[in-house]
Amino acid sequence: MMYNVLIVGAGPSGIGMALELQGRGLQDVLIVDGSGVGASFEAWPEETRFITPSFPSHAYGCPDLNAVEMGASVASDLGVEHPSGVQYARYLRQVVDHHRLQVKAPVRVLDLHPRGDLWEVVTTNGNLTSRSVIWATGEYSDPNTDSIPGLEECVHYSAVTRWSTLAGDHFLVLGGGESGIDAACNLIALGKTVKVFDRSACWQDTASDPSWTLSPVTRERLLQAQTTRRIELVDGADIIRVESTQEGYQVQDSQGHLHRTTSRPVNCLGFKGGASQISDRWEWSGHEVKLTPEDQSTLHPGLFLLGPQVRQPGEIFCFIYKFRTRFPLVADAVQRRLNTTPTELST
Ligand SMILES: Cc1cc2nc3c(=O)[nH]c(=O)nc-3n(C[C@H](O)[C@H](O)[C@H](O)COP(=O)(O)OP(=O)(O)OC[C@H]3O[C@@H](n4cnc5c(N)ncnc54)[C@H](O)[C@@H]3O)c2cc1C
Repeated sequence: MMYNVLIVGAGPSGIGMALELQGRGLQDVLIVDGSGVGASFEAWPEETRFITPSFPSHAYGCPDLNAVEMGASVASDLGVEHPSGVQYARYLRQVVDHHRLQVKAPVRVLDLHPRGDLWEVVTTNGNLTSRSVIWATGEYSDPNTDSIPGLEECVHYSAVTRWSTLAGDHFLVLGGGESGIDAACNLIALGKTVKVFDRSACWQDTASDPSWTLSPVTRERLLQAQTTRRIELVDGADIIRVESTQEGYQVQDSQGHLHRTTSRPVNCLGFKGGASQISDRWEWSGHEVKLTPEDQSTLHPGLFLLGPQVRQPGEIFCFIYKFRTRFPLVADAVQRRLNTTPTELST
């Protein structure tokens, strides 16, 4: 069977994109996911909550910040303002069922081969053919665990199921962005002491874009944690090495300072992102994927990137309310391509 569009990843970007295409009457759109609908959210630590608030404002033309369909509200569906991962995954499954979106899971995409104007897609369930592929694999399943020597000694944020499962009382948290401060606040709530290291002290940044600074709810939680006097924020600390020692662990910063602990350090240095799974299919500028203005690979027409890894000049789309603004633009390009490419697989 040949698909018009194959969407890889059944998170909010893949599902929201499928809805956009369905709304335009496009047929033969398939979503595949290596795990299941909303798998990244199912894997969040139990304590993690959305930082962007949900509110039933859609009736007044202001879509819920976390919704993937404009006419409905996560807040109304779930009855919560800051959903947990499990709750949000449930919302996504409801969207899939309600709109009868075609999802196949578990089907993991292993590779993509351009064949003329078409794509041959190698999956754990056999090969598929599609005229366009939308890569919506997010970031959560591809953590950054090797950018610093010894980083594998740490526990990555995405590997934590519940903060109380981490052994020890004194923690070093590498990275002071959203996930680092979330980790620290959860550990403080458990009575631990925590030192957070960040090279740029984003807790001091007051930029208006939450992609560059802490969100208001995280700032509130941090202030609360600071009243315990068990949290220390270390800025200008570029961590360059982690080592396990006889006594525990040692973290070294670029100024040569050594920080020791008996508990496994917590890696909150982010994600490589799912585009790296098919790195040869993109042109790269450092760690960023170069894209056309319509979020298409600059190397391969018909391959689109969607979700938090998308960068356009001056723009970063790492929240749902941001990356959903790309759906109509990508859908326009997909439709244009359908009108101009052949339907047979060339050999
Ligand atoms: C702790 C935390 C808190 C966050 N809080 C917020 C928030 O409050 N508000 C907000 O807007 N954003 C928030 N984000 C960001 C948000 O979660 C992501 O931007 C969002 O999940 C991205 O959606 P996505 O559909 O692109 O990717 P994902 O939700 O990660 O979905 C990708 C899917 O692709 C699948 N997949 C991966 N590789 C393959 C493959 N090769 N083949 C098949 N399937 C594959 C995965 O199983 C997964 O289901 C948060 C992120 C984290 C980590």
